[in-house]
Amino acid sequence: RPRVFSGIQPTAGSFQLGNYLGALRNWIALQESHDAFYCVVDLHSVTMPKDPAELRENTRNAAAQLLALGIDPERSTLFVQSHVAEHAQLSWVLECLTGYGEAARMTQFKDKSARQEDEHVSVGLFTYPALMAADILLYGTDLVPVGEDQRQHLELSRTLAQRFNSRFGRTFVVPDAHIPSDTARIFDLQDPTSKMSKSIPSGVVEFMEDPKRTAKKIRSAVTDNERDIRYDPENKPGVSNLLVIYSGMTGRSVAELETAYEGSGYGDLKKDLGAVLADFLTPFQARVREYLDDPAELDKILHRGTERARAVASETLREAYDRVGFLPPV
Ligand code: ATP
Ligand code: MG
Repeated sequence: RPRVFSGIQPTAGSFQLGNYLGALRNWIALQESHDAFYCVVDLHSVTMPKDPAELRENTRNAAAQLLALGIDPERSTLFVQSHVAEHAQLSWVLECLTGYGEAARMTQFKDKSARQEDEHVSVGLFTYPALMAADILLYGTDLVPVGEDQRQHLELSRTLAQRFNSRFGRTFVVPDAHIPSDTARIFDLQDPTSKMSKSIPSGVVEFMEDPKRTAKKIRSAVTDNERDIRYDPENKPGVSNLLVIYSGMTGRSVAELETAYEGSGYGDLKKDLGAVLADFLTPFQARVREYLDDPAELDKILHRGTERARAVASETLREAYDRVGFLPPV
């Protein structure tokens, strides 16, 4: 079975709707056909300042949410990045293969560093894509389900795999990105021209918030002064975003929704979408609470994941270190 790997940061509170429609939905689907490794990337998360107690709590919350969404720990390997030291160990070598200019061209770094005070822009934020490449390459990954915003990082992972292979001999599988064609980029509800993101929380649907609050956020989503419900991202980014979300959550095509809402107002669309999201979030939140109420079970799942991940990662790292010319320890 082909291999799939992906990771998600343990952000405060909960995942947001963009994470789900852009990536997590595919994580779940790919379990059927692939040997999957899914990771809560806490090392990535400390590229920005984090409170230690909150980070621990958010990491557990993230694992519980992944299980509640349908990651099956019997079939897939679910683990925490910092539990498998090989990620940081391979990252160093890949950093040394990454050009300074190459890293400086990464738009996520440019965006995130522009939003920070200078003293908060860490070297770790800069080298983030090399760590991400290490995550992926350690598992001989064929496919990486991510949202559109990760395309450039994925491209760098491919470049680094190829560069390592051509310099030191074939070691890494060159991974492909798996980006949805329809929901690759979900936009903020208050600013439908920028990506929905936990880092800029204005119009963000958070998975652990009260579904009534979600419905309210949808009702107050920014639209436009026209009346017609039509997919036109250029001129009607707000309404188009709502249609894409609606379609992603129900499996009904955007064209079908346009027809169904012909003659209706934005209020009807928003009311129905709020209900769709509430129907999804209510049982999801109950499942998350069950996992959080049984920390021993959660620990057991993560422990098993760590063992399985280490078995693969340590083999890859050993081979890579050997190729680089590091003297093997005896
Ligand atoms: P941050 O904004 O702090 O980077 P994030 O919400 O993007 O946080 P990540 O852990 O960086 O969360 O991303 C997890 C996955 O969710 C990635 O595959 C990313 O591409 C995807 N993703 C994040 N936001 C969106 C979005 N608005 N639309 C589609 N996919 C998204
Ligand atoms: Mg992100």
